[in-house]
Formats: sequence, C-alpha cells, structure tokens
Amino acid sequence: MLLFTPGPTPVPQNVRNAMSDATMHHRTPEFEAIFAQTRKHLFKLFNTDEVVMIASSGTGAMESAVINLCHNTLLNVNSGKFGERFGKIALAHNLKSVEIKNEWNTPVSVDAIIEAVKADSNIDAIAVQISESAGGLRHPVEEIAKAVKEINPNIMIIADGITAVGVEKIDVTNIDCLIAGSQKALMLPPGLAILGLSNNGIEKIGTGKGYYLNLASEIKKQKQNTTAYTAATTLIIGLLEVLETIEADGGIDELYTRTAIRAEAVNSALQAIGLHIYPESPAKSMTTIDDEKASEIRKVLKEDFKVNVAGGQDHLKGKIFRINQMGLIPNYEMAWVVNSVELALDKLDVRTYDGTANKVFNEITFKLSTDK
Ligand SMILES: *Cc1c(COP(=O)(O)O)cnc(C)c1O
Repeated sequence: MLLFTPGPTPVPQNVRNAMSDATMHHRTPEFEAIFAQTRKHLFKLFNTDEVVMIASSGTGAMESAVINLCHNTLLNVNSGKFGERFGKIALAHNLKSVEIKNEWNTPVSVDAIIEAVKADSNIDAIAVQISESAGGLRHPVEEIAKAVKEINPNIMIIADGITAVGVEKIDVTNIDCLIAGSQKALMLPPGLAILGLSNNGIEKIGTGKGYYLNLASEIKKQKQNTTAYTAATTLIIGLLEVLETIEADGGIDELYTRTAIRAEAVNSALQAIGLHIYPESPAKSMTTIDDEKASEIRKVLKEDFKVNVAGGQDHLKGKIFRINQMGLIPNYEMAWVVNSVELALDKLDVRTYDGTANKVFNEITFKLSTDK
C-alpha cells in the first residue's frame, strides 16, 4: 500500500534502520552528542532563536505553546479542525478565547485579525495554522504576524507549522513560536514534537507554565543537550537521520523546491481531468480535492491501486480527499497516484481514461525541474 495521507507519512528505509539499534540511555555522552547534532540541524530548519523537542504528538506542542505564551486571551483562527483545537486548549486551561471562524476552504484575512486585535486589548497571543490540514489551506501567517507586531509587539504569534515546517521556507521574523510534528513533513513515526522559539517568546515564558509542558524547564535543559524528562531517544535518532538525509539529498531548499513543483504538477494534473481544488489558497503540503464522489474515488484508489489517501473530517466527510505532498516522494510514486485517480474516474464513469493526468504531471514536473 502506498501511504499518501498528509500525516502520517512514510518513514524512509534508512531512517527505520537508524532507529532499529539497541535502546540507548538518554543521560549518556553518546546520546547527548546525538542531541547536540540534532539541535544544530533544527536551528537551520527553524531559523528561530531556540528549539525544543518534546515527547508528544503535535497537539502536546500546541498545548505547551498556548499555556506558556498566552496568559490572558487567545485569538485563534478556526478554518478547520486544527485551528479549532487551539481554542479548545485555551478554554481547557481557563484562558479566554476569541475565535475567527471561516469555512474550511477559506484562509483568514489579515484585516479580520487586525480588527479582532484592536477590539480586544486582552488578546496577548494569536494561534494560527500555517497549513490547516483539515482542508489543505495556507493561512497568510507571515503577513498576519507582521501586521500584529506593528500594532503591539507584545502579542505572541504561535504558528502551527506541523504541515509546513519541512514543506516550504517560512519567514519567522515576527513568529514567536513555530511548531512541528514528527509524523508529517519530518517523515518519522508519531510521538515527537518540536517548538522553535523567539527571544521575545522566551522572555514571555519566564519561569514557564504547566509541569511536563513547561517550556522554561525544557529550554534550560536542552541548551545543555539534555531534556527535563526522558527524551524520545529513538525518535530523535530518527530525526537526525532524516535531517542528514535531507542535507545529503541536496539540502532543505532543494526539498522545498521539489515539494513546490510536485504540488503544482499534481494540482494541475487533477484539474486537467476535471477535478476541483478545494481550498482558496492551497497549501503545498497536500492536494485537496472536493468532489461528490470523493469516497468512491478513495475506495477505488485503495482497492484497485493500493493507494491510501485521506478523506475529510466532520462536515467534509465523504466530500473531499487529500493527497500528501510532504517529504521525500519519488516522482514515479506520485505519477502512479495521479494516474490511479484518472483510472478511478474512468471506473466510476466520470470520464474516459486518456492519460491526461499523467501527461500534465510529467510535463509540468519536467518543465519546472529543468527551468531552474
Ligand atoms: C496533524 C496536525 C496536528 C495535530 O497533531 P497530532 O500529532 O495529531 O497531535 C496539528 N496541526 C496540524 C496542522 C496538523 O496537521
């Protein structure tokens, strides 16, 4: 089965091998050396003043960011399940929450954020997805961050980059916390989350909030290449292997370029066979198609062609399907997926197969890859 869901993503074989050695104790010079190397790579990937790894799924990092960086009212952007989650986290910790809600295909407008910030002086943090995975959309996070800092530089910007870090270059100039998760663009099993932090963010954190998720305790320890509690040693060993693999494969900018080309080629290929891109501002992390036959298409993909793509959740259940673009994906695999979608449409009597999708995918991939 080809795993083409936008998380979890496939783990490369060399990374699985790296994680298969005997368990290492986390309080040893051997592991601390691995930790230090990993941190070095992460600083390059995040471009932030500090990075912290915690043993949790992505949601743990979201919770940690909210409790440590928001002390009063959180403004959260809800254009999907993950944006909604930030508001729920705030309420669970007795923080106040102001929400800007949109349909799942609609990115938040910078003006709406400015208006909300001006209307409520209690707002001390904003949480938003860079790529909202529920509908595959890209929010204008960098513009939001810049506009908000012009109004009040003390408002913390929490950017959920779980399907963005490792997908595209993110301008972190005005971002105080950038979150990544292991099982999405970082091509690892679930269980590790990473937070990139600004110096202003660290100042706001002070002595930190929470216990396990207290960022102050982690920052203090991780600067010394260790962790406050038992480190997720195996996943960190895997992360180092992933980051070294990306480097050996041409570097992170090369990965961003290839991801962007692939996303464009797939979007164009599927549009060429009459399919419709769901989000108004598609993220590069995934291709999201809305179609009344979404469930049937997914079923044919799985049963006839051994391709697993994601469906939709909540009110989009059965209405969309999402194809992963994150990670090191060989073009021949993506060509297989694109061709399978076209064959599925033929099988479902939507459109007669003529190879258009693959032709467009190959044309665009070749053109953009040789244009550089
Ligand atoms: C997957 C995802 C999360 C949540 O991560 P978990 O690892 O499931 O806790 C948060 N935000 C976005 C954008 C995601 O795609």
